[in-house]
Amino acid sequence: VIRCRAAVAWAVGKPLSVEEVEVAPPKAGEVRVKIVATGICHTDEHILEGSFPNVDFPVIPGHEGAGIVESVGEGVTSVKPGDKVIPLCLPQCGECSFCLNPESNYCLKCHVSEPQTVLPDKTSRFTCKGKQIHHFLWVSTFAEYTVIPEYAVAKIDAAAPLDKVCLLACGFSTGYGAAINTAKVKPGSTCAVFGLGGVGLSVIMGCKAAGASRIIAVDINSDKFAKAKELGATHCISPHDFKKPIQEVLTEMTGHGVDYSFEVIGLADTMTAALASCNMNTGVCVMVGVPASGSVISFDPMLVLSGRTWKGTLLGGWKMRDCIPKLVASYLEKKFNSDVLITHTLPIAKVNEGFELLRAGK
Ligand code: NAD
Ligand code: ZN
Ligand code: ZN
Repeated sequence: VIRCRAAVAWAVGKPLSVEEVEVAPPKAGEVRVKIVATGICHTDEHILEGSFPNVDFPVIPGHEGAGIVESVGEGVTSVKPGDKVIPLCLPQCGECSFCLNPESNYCLKCHVSEPQTVLPDKTSRFTCKGKQIHHFLWVSTFAEYTVIPEYAVAKIDAAAPLDKVCLLACGFSTGYGAAINTAKVKPGSTCAVFGLGGVGLSVIMGCKAAGASRIIAVDINSDKFAKAKELGATHCISPHDFKKPIQEVLTEMTGHGVDYSFEVIGLADTMTAALASCNMNTGVCVMVGVPASGSVISFDPMLVLSGRTWKGTLLGGWKMRDCIPKLVASYLEKKFNSDVLITHTLPIAKVNEGFELLRAGK
């Protein structure tokens, strides 16, 4: 058993509490990883607000991490102690019917199908003050050591800087893949990206890499515009600067709407606005933002009947275990620069400060 620090969420709406926790050794088919760095994604904030489905408290959140294998359980063959790894918040068991489908990156062992609040044997490896603490998406990267099933761990290049490539565990890969894999943005096209957090900025990088010629960035926080432009946005607009709905503004700017629109916020209203912003016949709208649990969208069916495509993405469509090591290789070859997404670097003791910065739009 390892004693180390972890940021524990004891209850909905409470700040995280940095505690000493006990982390049990990995059982058969499991890997214990020393987490070196982790990002904060808005999905972690959804958990603290209690709006992510099926999460049990107390829980150790965090799902955008990178680390080093400390020990492995019986039967583990794909990684060994000392290997650099990225824990996968979307597993790839390689055996379920979805994993066997080359078109799908959804694994039937993921949280959407079966809550990953305990490990597959239905027990937790974390305790704190005599209480069992739940896992989050099996990865719980806000712990200095975490135990993960082998099929939710990807071995990466030993040269990878863990404090940078941790962003490939969620935010960067989700946004970049939403453009490249899910929307399949074509060269010369026009795109609109709603929400310029880490994920939305990564969508812009993906649209640019795919050759889009116009990329319109939309956010209510105009402080986000400089970075969006640096990454490839050709126009930046705030819905607050217009009297008419933003979908009308975008339709006027483009003639018949954009070719591809992306909602990267997680609100029902902006999801329908993004749908209405794309071309009524050939437009593709991708839902990336995670809506609050139980939210419902009502929309005019004519929006889709005229031919638009409305789709969603989990982690940008990448089959995680196969693709994350390749994305790390591309990072090392400087094919993209996800480092620009890093705004602050803090020690784990200041994790709540990190969330304050996220809430303040910094
Ligand atoms: P973030 O908080 O860093 O960014 C959100 C941005 O949206 C902010 O810049 C904010 O100003 C802007 N915004 C808020 N309300 C707005 C409005 N009404 N109109 C325009 N802009 C508005 O968040 P993030 O970490 O980039 O995550 C974005 C979303 O993506 C979250 O919902 C997160 O849960 C989701 N997400 C989904 C996946 C997936 O697999 N589909 C993966 C990662 C994150
Ligand atoms: Zn995330
Ligand atoms: Zn599977």
